[in-house]
Amino acid sequence: ESRAAAVIIDAALAAIQDTLDRSVDELGRLDAIAGDGDHGIGMQRGARAGRAAAAEALAAGAGAGTLLIKAADAWADRAGGTSGALWGVALRALGERLGDADPAFSAAVVEGVAAARDGVINYGKAEVGDKTMVDALVPFADTLAAALGEGADLVEAWRRAADSATKAAAATSDLLPRKGRARPHAEKSLGTPDPGAHSFALIVVAVGDVLDG
Ligand code: ADP
Ligand code: MG
Ligand code: MG
Repeated sequence: ESRAAAVIIDAALAAIQDTLDRSVDELGRLDAIAGDGDHGIGMQRGARAGRAAAAEALAAGAGAGTLLIKAADAWADRAGGTSGALWGVALRALGERLGDADPAFSAAVVEGVAAARDGVINYGKAEVGDKTMVDALVPFADTLAAALGEGADLVEAWRRAADSATKAAAATSDLLPRKGRARPHAEKSLGTPDPGAHSFALIVVAVGDVLDG
């Protein structure tokens, strides 16, 4: 059971790396509109380092929580930038809740995602509507918890949550940024989505495909 969870986490981090490799230019273009243009390259660097750290931990026999914590530290260290620090916080919170031997994987994932949401909000102080990744993360966490509460299994609950994150990320196009580097050039970003919200949606969709096997 705990080995199975670690294999899922390893595969999820590999899928995250793949999707960010494919989206590096798109994310860079989005971030260049009102930010500094480094969101694609930063996320790619972070995901590569996180994936490598997790693979190494898996090979050494570590459990899911340890994989995520190693990935979190490597990601934050290598990515640089605001989003790198925030992804480090999120992955570490998830890993700490999952642990290495939790038999109730689905319940631990929901609690871990809620802890990641709280950690990101606490670290970055952004609220829903500030045009950041929080705008996708909050509906993702809420929908995931609600769907599992209604009796959906993890695959279906994650699919619904990823769907609401994707819609919420697209809806940030209508917002003006109130946090981060995009704030001074806020009006330029009207009509395009927040890069961090968009990359969040890409990531949870990719992880959903892994869970679906
Ligand atoms: P940087 O802004 O340091 O260059 P990135 O370009 O990698 O970092 O990431 C930018 C993204 O980080 C934004 O699109 C936004 O989603 C997210 N972000 C910025 N500031 C915050 C914050 N305070 N809280 C949450 N997310 C934030
Ligand atoms: Mg940037
Ligand atoms: Mg930067």
